[in-house]
Amino acid sequence: MAWFRNINIKTEHEIEIMRSAGQINAEALQAAHDAVCVGATTADINAAAEEVLKKYGVYSPFKNYPGPYPYPSSTTVSVNEELVHGIPGKRKLREGDIVSVDCGAVYEGFVADSAFSTGVGEISPDARRLLEVTEASLYKAIEKMIVGNHIGDVSAVVEKVAEANGFYVTHEYTGHGVGRDMHEGPQVPNYGIPGQGMLLRKGMTIAVEPMVLVGTRATRVLKDQWTVTSADRSLTAHFEHTIAVTNNGPLILTLLENGKGPGQIGPGLKLDRIRDN
Ligand code: MG
Ligand code: MG
Repeated sequence: MAWFRNINIKTEHEIEIMRSAGQINAEALQAAHDAVCVGATTADINAAAEEVLKKYGVYSPFKNYPGPYPYPSSTTVSVNEELVHGIPGKRKLREGDIVSVDCGAVYEGFVADSAFSTGVGEISPDARRLLEVTEASLYKAIEKMIVGNHIGDVSAVVEKVAEANGFYVTHEYTGHGVGRDMHEGPQVPNYGIPGQGMLLRKGMTIAVEPMVLVGTRATRVLKDQWTVTSADRSLTAHFEHTIAVTNNGPLILTLLENGKGPGQIGPGLKLDRIRDN
C-alpha cells in the first residue's frame, strides 16, 4: 500500500494544529468513556463522541473511510473479543464487558487519532490486568519515541510488555503515521526488533496503537466485513495516542486539557525529562 512510504514531516505550526485536533478528539473520547454503563448501546457511545465533534464543527475521518463498504460511523466501538473496527449499533453493554472506543477528528485539515479501553461496571481481575497492561505498553512505547531511535524500538516495547504478561499482540494491524491523511507512513507494528526499522525524525507524527489479545494473536473479521475479533473469542484491548517526535522528546497530541488520556487508568508517561538531541 502506497501510504507505507508516504512520510510527511510536520512543521511546528502543523503540530500545533494537530494538538488542537488531538484535544478535541480526547474530549470526544472522554465523553464516550463517560457514556459507558450497563445497558448503554454501542450506538449511544458513538453518539456521545459525535456530539463533541459536532460542538467543535469537526468531523471524524472514520466516517465513510474506504473499505469493503464505506465505514458507517464516526467511531469504532469494540466489545470484549472485538479487537478493533466494531461498528456502533444496538448491542447493549453488560456488567463485566470491556469496551474499546477509537475516534478521529479532522481540524483545519489535520487528523488526530486515538483510542481507549475501559470496563463496564465491575470487571474481572483478568480483564482489569489486560486493560492495565495494554495501556502501559502504549506509554512505555511512547517513551521510545525519541529522535534517533528506530520504529523497531517502539514496536518491540509493545510486544515485550504484552508478552511479559502472558498476552499476545496482533501482527495484522498496526500503528501508522498520521497528518493530513489518517494513514500515512511509517507503519508501526506492535512487534519488532530494537534498533531496526526507520529512524525517528523530528516532525514525524505517529499513531501508536497496541492491540492486545488474551488467548491468541490470530484474528478474524466478522460478516459485517469491518469488525475484527480474536480468533478464539478471548478478550482484547486497544489503546492509542497520536504523538509528535520533537527535539524535546515525544509530545502526545491526543491528551485532554488536564494532561491525561481519555479514560486513563495508570500513571501515563513516566518520562519526566528527556535530553535535547
Ligand atoms: Mg484509531
Ligand atoms: Mg490509528
